[in-house]
Amino acid sequence: MFSRSPSASAFDDLALAKGERLNNPFECVYHGFRRLNMTASTVSHTDVVVIGGGPAGSTASTLIAQRGVKVRLFERERFPRFHIGESLIPETYWVLERLKMLDKMKQSHFVKKFSVQFVNANGKLSAPFYFHDNKPHECSQTWQVVRSEFDLMMLRNAAEQGVQVNEATRVLDVIFDGERAVGVRVQKEDGATEEVRAKVVVDASGQSTMLQSRFKLRIWDPVLNKGAIWTYWQGAYRDTGRDEGATIVIQTPNKQGWFWNIPLHNDTLSLGVVGPFDYLFKGRGSHEQTYHEEVELCPAVKERIAKAKRVTGYFATKDYSYRSRECAGDGWVLIGDAFGFLDPLYSSGVLLALKSGELAADAIVEGLAKNDTSAAQLGNWSEMFNRGVDRMRRLVCEYYDSFSFGKFVKNYPDLKNTVTDLLIGDLFTDRVDKVWEPMESLYEEGKQAIPTWTKGVAPDAVPEKGNELFLPEGHRP
Ligand SMILES: Cc1cc2nc3c(=O)[nH]c(=O)nc-3n(C[C@H](O)[C@H](O)[C@H](O)COP(=O)(O)OP(=O)(O)OC[C@H]3O[C@@H](n4cnc5c(N)ncnc54)[C@H](O)[C@@H]3O)c2cc1C
Repeated sequence: MFSRSPSASAFDDLALAKGERLNNPFECVYHGFRRLNMTASTVSHTDVVVIGGGPAGSTASTLIAQRGVKVRLFERERFPRFHIGESLIPETYWVLERLKMLDKMKQSHFVKKFSVQFVNANGKLSAPFYFHDNKPHECSQTWQVVRSEFDLMMLRNAAEQGVQVNEATRVLDVIFDGERAVGVRVQKEDGATEEVRAKVVVDASGQSTMLQSRFKLRIWDPVLNKGAIWTYWQGAYRDTGRDEGATIVIQTPNKQGWFWNIPLHNDTLSLGVVGPFDYLFKGRGSHEQTYHEEVELCPAVKERIAKAKRVTGYFATKDYSYRSRECAGDGWVLIGDAFGFLDPLYSSGVLLALKSGELAADAIVEGLAKNDTSAAQLGNWSEMFNRGVDRMRRLVCEYYDSFSFGKFVKNYPDLKNTVTDLLIGDLFTDRVDKVWEPMESLYEEGKQAIPTWTKGVAPDAVPEKGNELFLPEGHRP
């Protein structure tokens, strides 16, 4: 079942992975976790435990370890593992800089991304939003990444900076002493369990949302109920020069959804369709059939893959957006998708994972120094962070509710830069709020204001609702 035997420590794990080259980056070797009979449990102690080795967990753990605090990270998979979320946005630069990842990114083979472009329902292409025109700094060039490779780089980088990384180790539960989180119980590949006591537990378990589910903290977004189907192509059309790496967002002619067109290295294209969940998944055929029906409807997409060869099967997700009503409690904190998931329209997920990881790390280090790991200390960033996510969410909702970038820029050319600020992820400042009133001035008559995310519902009200990833047959996580 396992293609390599469990190794003794995190550093061994990473050493084994070193030098590995993936011929097909989307075919990850499966080193999954098998549930075995539990054997004797040991107890150990550390300062901070992080659950999950995605971008959020790697970020928080690295920044904590840089400050000399003992941190252990547990990841249930053995990397590289497949993940969606391939397009970065420029504001990731500042966190990548603190992580000491910039040189690694610059030396990588990831495609350089300089802009984003929109095709409307009539097939009309907007002028590119070049990030550099807006901010003439090297931060305005970002990357299109293959996540299995990017996440592995981030995890290795964490280990290099002192994080004790344990792959193929699942966190079974978080241990509480009354209201306070005091550690986790983990299980390794061989079935052995370990209790790891810590002053702070960081939940970066992604859409598994360990603590959000346990405490019923989730609020499903009232508006953003989408799904996605995607696959990978080789030899598809791509632009040249500084447009080569652009993300292109292509609205479908019936305005029900949009395609992402994300050029990756090795001449590979990630091409996915996003639409309302019911439209995409109810009363339709297989994921393959639905995908191709949508391609047929969209000439701007069809012509891009006319000469291309499909190189994987079809992936799909239910993409309901959600957020947690709290981001911290005594001794615990939520980051990345374990805190909230926002519709992928503007590729903000990895930025939000990095940013929340950074803010939580700073709050934890400061809290440990003054012996305060209360909810108030660990979540002291939540208000500012939520306001930033609200800004991106509003731009997402406006797009789904007939906002046109072309029309907006035509009417308000002076605000092109501010809209670009939002697109690059410069979300955590009220400077960008000057776009909303002009946007409202272009509303069609009768258009309702967009409900806030807090108007959403708790899981108990919709027990059938849940996000899920469907992999192509034979493809393992
Ligand atoms: C269709 C779609 C398209 C997207 N496109 C983009 C995009 O273009 N750009 C972008 O920036 N974002 C995109 N995203 C969002 C992006 O995928 C996520 O926001 C991002 O991966 C969140 O990172 P994370 O570290 O919080 O979670 P993850 O990356 O999911 O990492 C969580 C980790 O926790 C581990 N884990 C879970 N449970 C346990 C456990 N019990 N014990 C130990 N480990 C555990 C998992 O194995 C996983 O490795 C997209 C999302 C979707 C659904």
